[in-house]
Order: sequence, then C-alpha cells, then structure tokens
Amino acid sequence: MNHKPRVVIVGGGFGGLSAARRIAKLPVQVTVIDRKNHHTFQPLLYQVATAGLSPGEIAAPIRWILRAHSNIEVLLEEVSDFKLNNKQVIAKEKVLDYDFLIIASGATHAYFGHDEWAALAPGLKTIEDALEIRRRVLLAFELAERQNSESQGAPQLQFVIIGGGPTGVELAGTLAEITRHAMNHEFRNIDPKQTRILLIEGSPRVLAAYSEELSRKAEEQLRRLGVEVRTSHTVTRIGPGVVWIGDERISASVVLWAAGVAASPLGRKLGVPVDGVGRVLVQPDLSIPNHPEVFVIGDLAALRDENGKMLPGVAPVAIQQGDWVAETVARDLENRPRGSFHYHDKGSLATIGRAAAVAQFGKFELSGYLAWLAWLFVHILFLIGFRNRLLVMIQWSWSYLTYERGARLITGSDELPGWTENAGERGGSPVQSGGDARLSTSTIESATAAIPRSPHKPI
Ligand SMILES: Cc1cc2nc3c(=O)[nH]c(=O)nc-3n(C[C@H](O)[C@H](O)[C@H](O)COP(=O)(O)OP(=O)(O)OC[C@H]3O[C@@H](n4cnc5c(N)ncnc54)[C@H](O)[C@@H]3O)c2cc1C
Repeated sequence: MNHKPRVVIVGGGFGGLSAARRIAKLPVQVTVIDRKNHHTFQPLLYQVATAGLSPGEIAAPIRWILRAHSNIEVLLEEVSDFKLNNKQVIAKEKVLDYDFLIIASGATHAYFGHDEWAALAPGLKTIEDALEIRRRVLLAFELAERQNSESQGAPQLQFVIIGGGPTGVELAGTLAEITRHAMNHEFRNIDPKQTRILLIEGSPRVLAAYSEELSRKAEEQLRRLGVEVRTSHTVTRIGPGVVWIGDERISASVVLWAAGVAASPLGRKLGVPVDGVGRVLVQPDLSIPNHPEVFVIGDLAALRDENGKMLPGVAPVAIQQGDWVAETVARDLENRPRGSFHYHDKGSLATIGRAAAVAQFGKFELSGYLAWLAWLFVHILFLIGFRNRLLVMIQWSWSYLTYERGARLITGSDELPGWTENAGERGGSPVQSGGDARLSTSTIESATAAIPRSPHKPI
C-alpha cells in the first residue's frame, strides 16, 4: 500500500469507539460511520426511560468523543450494504473504500415475527425508545388523573413488562419505586402507589443468565418492591392496552418489551454464515471467512469462549473486541502473526432498583445493598472519560437521596395505545383477526435463544 491504509468502522457504539480510539494511534486513516450523531451509554437507558436522567446525560456526540484524533473522520450516514470483493461500504449517500473494515452495528429489537407489536410495546435500545417509554409511563398517570377527576371512574393503572432479563428487571424495579415514592403527594385523584407492575417471563426464572440462587434473590427483591413476577408465563398476544397470556386477558396502561433482541441486519449482508438471531459466526481473530480484512465485533458477532459458551451481548465484550481488532490491524501492518481473541470476564451485575441488585464474580455472589454498591462503583468507573460523568453522578445522587425524578417531561403525542377515556375499562380490542398473532412454542424457544440481553453490567 503506498497510501495510508484506510480503516472504515461501522457503528459508534461500545465496540466501534473502542476500536477507533486504539486504531487511531496507528499510521492509518479512519472513518467512523454511524446513523446517529451520538454514542449512547445503553446501561443507563432505563434511567432515561423512568425519568431519572435526561438524554444528554447518557449520550454524547461521537464527533466530540473522537475529537482528539486528527486521523479520524466521523460521518453521519446509514450503511445499507457491502461489496466485499471491491472492498467497499455502501451507505445511503456515499460509497466508501477501505483496506480494513470493522463492523460494530450492534443489535436491534426482536418481536419474533410480530413486528406489529413494536408500536404497542416499545423496547429499550435507543434514546428515542427511552423517551417514548418515558412519555407513555408519565402520560398514563396524567390520563388517569384527568379521567378520575371527571368521572371517578379510571381503573387501576397497570404496567406490564414483558421479559425478565436484566432490562425487564431494571425497568420493573425502577417503575415500582417511582410509583411508590417519587410521585407521592402530586396527584389528587389517583394514588400512584396503587399502580400494578407486572413482570412476565417465559422461562422459569428471571435473570436466567445468573445462578438459580441469584435469580431467586432478584425475584424476592422485586416482590419486595411491589412487582408481581410471573415466570413460566408466555405472552401470546398484544393488543392496544391489553396483553394475553393464553386465554387470560390483562389490561395494561403501558406495555413494555424487554423480551429479546436480534443482531443488526447488516450481518446478513455479508453473505457469510450467521446464527439463528443473525449474528455473524466470526473466526477466532474476529474476521469473517475468506476476508481477513473484514472484522465483526460486539453484539453483531457470535463467538464461543474456550469452554464453548457463547459470549454474551454486553459492553465489555464489545470493548475488548474493539481493542483486539485494533491490535490485529497493528500486527498486520507490521507483518506479525495474528492471535485469537479471549474474553476476560470480570463478572456480572444487574440492578433491580434503589439499593437492590445482584452480582456474580466467578463463584463469588452478592445480592441486595452490597451488590448495588458494587453496581454503582462500576458505573462510576465506567463513566470515566464520558462527558457528563460528574453531572450524571450529581443528578443521580440527588434523585437517590430525594426520590425526585428531575426529567419528568412529557414530550410528543398525548395518545396512549388502547386508552379510551371514560370507557370504564381501558384495554382496547384484541389483535385484529386475519393476523394470527399467537406465538407458537417454537417462538417461545426462539425468544429464549435470542442474544442474551445485557445479562451483565460492565466491570
Ligand atoms: C437497555 C440496555 C441496557 C444494557 N445494559 C448493559 C449493562 O448494564 N452492561 C453491559 O455490559 N451491557 C449492557 N447492554 C448491552 C450493551 O449496551 C451492548 O452489548 C453494547 O452496546 C454492544 O456494543 P456494540 O458496539 O456491538 O453495539 P452498540 O453499542 O449498540 O452500537 C451500535 C452502533 O451502530 C450504529 N448502527 C447500527 N446500524 C447502523 C447502520 N446501518 N449504519 C450506521 N450505523 C449503524 C448504531 O447507531 C450504534 O451507534 C445493555 C443494552 C441495552 C439495550
């Protein structure tokens, strides 16, 4: 090569940023492409969804994060395809040539063939998702207050969260807390404390990626917070304001989806083998078959560890893989041999609510307050280098001490699916006939087979 090698990185998430920062130290020209102008700190999205933090506190412009590296350009663009034989990335407005390509486009929601559920039960992946969840939750209280002031007839508010993985558990625990504490004394016609929070999980236990003992403790902590946990129950239909478990119909003011994610569709564009959820089956050095210059990392990559266990879709995996790929590019440039990627698992943490969490560090397990302190400590560490670390910590400590939720703004539409004012019962019509919205047992299985969604907190 008589020009500086050109490295194109698709995705400015955890994997893409870690690769970019390290690779920028090499004599290369780097382009980072993302369809958003910002990096999102996804582990704290639930705080935005439950009005604890504002979006700007957990997201920062990618351009700003990478500003110190003069050999990195950042492009706001959506990648749609690849021409691997021409070494080209096809984006909406541009075609980019590369010598090395790193694809870190992450994961997306999976509704297991029921995309129509997306509008009824939003998932949590982006800032937009978090704001939509916040809007629905806050709006439900406002509508109930208004309805009760007019007719004394609004039924009990009911929030249904589908999926008992870390995101579902986090959302259920935090929602229970805000209804029990944060909204005290603010409403005159409803009692937010009476809000029913229902967490539905298809498998026999919540936080299935953890030990049985920790799952049991997590469930206990959730119940203590006032969450009704229903394990071994599978949602079979969702309609506006209503959820079905088999023949049981559950009215729901707000339905949230935390049941599964699938890999970014870009994985399937590479024409190489992918697993059941669309993750690319990468080689031990994270490249793809027959294209040693193309790497796939993070949530989009499927790789097993030395014990044959699939690496989880968590930030530390993406970050370590980003570093690894940068090191591999360095080796290639210096004609040194490549090695194989090894994940250093430092442990897992899942938060349940205020002062409630579970933690697993190898054989060592923690739950309750100590686990929560560990979780907090890890987040402080992890936020280092992130723009608003101090602000986040101040805001967070404030809402922790006072139960105040500073970001309780309703923006956007004032409509809630299935909410019919003065109708006596909320929870509209079942899924329209013609579209068989039932999930089969195999769908339930595929739900469990989806990428394990953030079973860990980064350490
Ligand atoms: C709600 C939630 C909570 C989580 N909590 C934790 C946690 O506590 N601990 C933990 O370790 N992990 C957690 N995770 C998982 C963790 O965030 C992911 O494992 C990690 O973000 C994966 O990094 P990535 O770089 O592969 O993808 P991402 O960080 O998702 O980044 C992908 C990037 O690619 C961009 N992109 C996608 N498609 C295109 C395209 N076609 N063109 C251009 N750009 C594109 C996206 O805009 C995005 O910026 C959580 C995830 C979620 C959703």
